[in-house]
Amino acid sequence: MPRKTTSTPKGSGPLAEYDAKRTFTQTPEPPPSVHSTPGANYFCVQRHDATRLHYDFRLEIDGVLKSWAVPKGATLDPTVRHFAAHVEDHPIDYGSFEGNIPAGNYGAGSVMLWDRGTFDLLGDGVPALDQLARGDLKFRLHGEKLNGDFAIVHMKGRGKGNEWLLIKKRDQYAQPGWDVEAHAWSVLSGRTQEEIAQNLPARKSKKKTAGATDAVWKSDRPAARRKPASATSISPAPGPRRPAPKKKPRTRTSHP
Ligand code: MN
Repeated sequence: MPRKTTSTPKGSGPLAEYDAKRTFTQTPEPPPSVHSTPGANYFCVQRHDATRLHYDFRLEIDGVLKSWAVPKGATLDPTVRHFAAHVEDHPIDYGSFEGNIPAGNYGAGSVMLWDRGTFDLLGDGVPALDQLARGDLKFRLHGEKLNGDFAIVHMKGRGKGNEWLLIKKRDQYAQPGWDVEAHAWSVLSGRTQEEIAQNLPARKSKKKTAGATDAVWKSDRPAARRKPASATSISPAPGPRRPAPKKKPRTRTSHP
C-alpha cells in the first residue's frame, strides 16, 4: 500500500543533504520525499559498486532511511565488528532502488538491492531516535539474507564522528565465518552486480543462481548465459579486498 509522502524543498528538511548531492534529471535515484505516516520498519542493504565496492545499510526511522556505508557489508558472523560510516538520510523510496547511477553523478556505479525486509526495534522500549542519539541502536532483522539481532554502535571521540560499528549478536541466526560475498545476488532481480551494470534483464530464479559460488552457478545455468570474464568477477575470493575497479568517473563529492 503506498504511503503518503511529502516533497521537501531544496535546502531544507531531513533530506536536504541527500537532495544537494544529486541532480534528479541525471540520476534514476528517487527524489527526496519524507513519509508522513507511521513507518513499516523497513530495512534494506544495497551493494554499491562505486569508487569502492561497499554496502549501504539502511533502517527506516522517523520517515527516512537512516544510512551507513559499510565497506565489508553486514554479516551473520558474531565474531567480527564491521566499520560503518554514517551517511546522509535517504528517502524511503530508495529502499527499492536498483540500477545504475550514471558517470559524473554522486555515487556513480551500479546499485544492487542486496537484502530487504523489516526490523523490530530492540532496546527496552527506548525510541529509535533516542537510541541513535546515544550511539547504540539495537534491532532484530527479518530479511532474506540477514536475520536475528544486531546492534550498530557509535565510536565516540573518533575521527570525523561518523564512525560506527555494525555487530551481529549471538543467536540462532549467528554463523561464524559467514561470507557476504557468497551471497552477491539481488533480492529484487536475482542479478549479479555485473548483470545490473550491463542493464541485463531480471533472472527468473533468484536464489542459488546469481552470485552464489561458481559451482552452484555452473550447475544451474547454461554457460552461454554470461561472457567468460564476468563469472570470476562476481565471486571474489574471501579475505583481501579485490583489486581496484576499472577507473571510475570522478564524482563531484566523495562517496565510498
Ligand atoms: Mn553507497
